[in-house]
Amino acid sequence: MSQLNNTVEILKVLNKSNCRECNELTCLAFAAAVFKGNKQLAECPHLEGDVIERFRGKTETRKTPEQDLDESVEKLKRNVSEIDLSSSARRLGAEFSDDRLTIKICGKNFSVDSKGNLSSDIHINP
Ligand code: SF4
Repeated sequence: MSQLNNTVEILKVLNKSNCRECNELTCLAFAAAVFKGNKQLAECPHLEGDVIERFRGKTETRKTPEQDLDESVEKLKRNVSEIDLSSSARRLGAEFSDDRLTIKICGKNFSVDSKGNLSSDIHINP
């Protein structure tokens, strides 16, 4: 295990004594606090220095929903940028002009350009 990616992986490196010296009720609560970014692994006084050093900067913290959304949208844009929109438009019976594929959905135009930017006649909620 070279990285601690979730609460259970963090819990595995703790001694599970639930001693409360970290001001958490249990080691599991401490692990969850570390994963949320509210505590540092080094705040458990029972961890050996080499364990703390081994995972320093390698404890992944939970992302906010906004961070998840931004990452998903950026990934989608990268994927769209690899698509040949012109041939996709022909296959879908959509229009393609000015580097933009436009298709009607429920009577409204939805467009995407080669950089993955979306636009529509109506409001788009990510
Ligand atoms: S101080 Fe360490 S061993 Fe004690 S409860 Fe907290 S995490 Fe568990």
